[in-house]
Amino acid sequence: MTDMKKQNGAVLLTGGAGYIGTHTTVALLEAGFDVIVADNFSNSCPEAINRVEQITGKKIKLYEVDVADQKQLVQIFAENKITGVIHFAGFKAVGESVKLPIKYYRNNLDTTLTLLECMARFGVKNLVFSSSATVYGDENPSPCVETMRTGKCANPYGMTKAFIEQILVDVAAAHKEMSIVLLRYFNPVGAHPSGLIGENPGGIPNNLMPYVSQVAVGKRDKLTIFGNDYNTPDGTCQRDFIHIMDLAQAHVKAIEFVEKNCGLDVFNIGTGEPYSVLDLVQTFEKVNGLKIPYEFGARREGDLPVVWADVSKAARVLGWKAELNLEDMCRDSWNWQKKNPHGINSSRN
Ligand code: NAD
Ligand code: UDP
Repeated sequence: MTDMKKQNGAVLLTGGAGYIGTHTTVALLEAGFDVIVADNFSNSCPEAINRVEQITGKKIKLYEVDVADQKQLVQIFAENKITGVIHFAGFKAVGESVKLPIKYYRNNLDTTLTLLECMARFGVKNLVFSSSATVYGDENPSPCVETMRTGKCANPYGMTKAFIEQILVDVAAAHKEMSIVLLRYFNPVGAHPSGLIGENPGGIPNNLMPYVSQVAVGKRDKLTIFGNDYNTPDGTCQRDFIHIMDLAQAHVKAIEFVEKNCGLDVFNIGTGEPYSVLDLVQTFEKVNGLKIPYEFGARREGDLPVVWADVSKAARVLGWKAELNLEDMCRDSWNWQKKNPHGINSSRN
């Protein structure tokens, strides 16, 4: 099985040095795939790839390129036999996207369009795209189902995902030989159990788990919980947190799926279980034997009270479901944070 996959060529991971990309690289290598990473390190660093090599004992072919740069991307396709692509490369900070929308539209759309042109030129037909639960917007009640109408997003980051989804729908309709999967991630958290790779945000984290972890390690004084007057069981927002190791496995299933099918398919990737912000904080405290100082603050603009996934389609069609729980997520996040108190790219911290 392994050898056959290797003979068939490699999977290209754009943005493969990032949080989800590194964990997916580990999962793909362990499943017997060859992996090539293309990343410009705008939000990551080469050390992340060294860590993946340390975990897997395998060498990774790494290209430091801007995926929006056609010349550079063409070179990768010309030098390698690529059978499929997982497209992670893009910017993802919601708040920054509101302030710098052009930067977000430029990078997220350009990387995708350049990639699609290259894939067409080299006859590569299999693509998995990193989309987000954000495409469900504020009009759809949870649990979110793949058939719901999407595209009314609250910020430019979300709109880049909605636009790219539409582009991919059009490409799949026009090019029947293409096989495309859109994975709509819910809230990825956690880290590889080795503590060698994990989420590595520069500056003040926007997301909940990295913020909690940085409070735990003493980098931030306390957590502010944005709102405790929502219409939820404990008044704080609920999300569908998913362990990064489970998310990585979903990519293995997705790349196997695109290799066997044609057309376009969409899958929610979550656990299908909502937990509140307070649930996460209290679980983090319990499993790690720590206290997380927190206060309640005002609601954060644009936050939805409750977001969680219907994950039945991924189970039915991909044969994938999440195995790890909130305790695993909190334990592995803390293990990563305490082993890497300043992340792994100290120049950005
Ligand atoms: P990340 O920032 O850790 O990884 C993205 C990687 O892409 C980084 O290594 C960055 O250096 C690289 N990159 C960005 N622009 C590039 C370019 N022009 N050329 C080459 N490399 C480039 O983010 P992540 O959390 O791993 O997310 C991966 C993908 O999943 C993104 O598209 C993100 O929008 C999407 N997503 C993430 C989440 C989440 O909560 N982490 C949720 C939903 C969707
Ligand atoms: N959150 C919070 N304090 C923080 C960061 C996040 O209370 O410092 C809350 C946020 O309001 C939301 C939940 O945690 O209800 C998840 O936020 P995150 O930004 O991680 O994910 P998203 O909003 O994209 O689902």
